[in-house]
Amino acid sequence: MSAEEARVHEPHLGRCLAALWSPNGGRLDAARLVGALEREVVDRGVEFRFDFSVDAAERSHGRWTLRSVSGASVEGRQIVNSAGVESAHVARRFGSTRFRIYPCLGEYAKVTNEKREWVSLDDLRIPVRVSRVGVHLTRLLSGELISRPTATYLDAAVAPAGRSPPGAVPTGG
Ligand SMILES: Cc1cc2nc3c(=O)[nH]c(=O)nc-3n(C[C@H](O)[C@H](O)[C@H](O)COP(=O)(O)OP(=O)(O)OC[C@H]3O[C@@H](n4cnc5c(N)ncnc54)[C@H](O)[C@@H]3O)c2cc1C
Repeated sequence: MSAEEARVHEPHLGRCLAALWSPNGGRLDAARLVGALEREVVDRGVEFRFDFSVDAAERSHGRWTLRSVSGASVEGRQIVNSAGVESAHVARRFGSTRFRIYPCLGEYAKVTNEKREWVSLDDLRIPVRVSRVGVHLTRLLSGELISRPTATYLDAAVAPAGRSPPGAVPTGG
């Protein structure tokens, strides 16, 4: 859409050449979504084990036995490794050393001054040169406005202490 059309939605827009309008965009409560998915799969017989940090894996007679740090165990014919930034580490427990994870730190900042009322849309994305994903101004379900995310590649999946952009209030996201 043209800059004039975009300003109908966001009157506080600064310099704007053109904009993309996504009428089907939306927000969801991620915790409630995961809760609903959990209830659905439990109804279908799925069993969850929490506090089960995989520490060792052994294969015998076509079955895997996984042991947790606390000594608990579970068996399975097939294992799906979905340990996120830890997945290469978990893969090594299964004897595979060919994966490497490149952790990327993303930080949020909460807009705390009167400008938090300047954005009308649930999610306003602004392309910027410094970040491939651009900057999102997102209205949380709580009503807070956050600016996100930064993208900093790290050597290890550990956030450096005290990281936050100048003047921003870190949300811990
Ligand atoms: C600041 C930020 C903002 C983001 N915003 C968005 C967004 O708006 N939209 C989007 O689509 N994505 C977003 N992402 C990316 C998204 O969060 C990740 O891509 C996604 O969570 C990865 O999912 P995953 O299941 O692979 O890993 P994770 O969600 O990290 O899950 C891995 C799980 O494995 C568990 N685990 C680790 N080691 C072990 C072990 N040894 N044994 C057992 N369990 C283990 C962990 O406890 C964790 O529960 C964002 C990420 C960040 C950091």
